[in-house]
Amino acid sequence: MEKEKKKCPECGCTEIAGGEFTGYAALKPTNSIIASSLVIAEICTNCGYILNMRVSDPEKFKKSLI
Ligand SMILES: [Zn+2]
Repeated sequence: MEKEKKKCPECGCTEIAGGEFTGYAALKPTNSIIASSLVIAEICTNCGYILNMRVSDPEKFKKSLI
């Protein structure tokens, strides 16, 4: 079965690209001074809508549960 293609809910475009926030946009756990993680986004290449965001290292955040 073919994997379902991601589709932009705003414009219907299926050309979705991966992107990374770097530098000051890196997300870090609230109780940690040094550990931070890249934020990876899925972006519609037609209208710029961000479909999804996730951190690259979610296990770093387990100590910051609220
Ligand atoms: Zn779009």
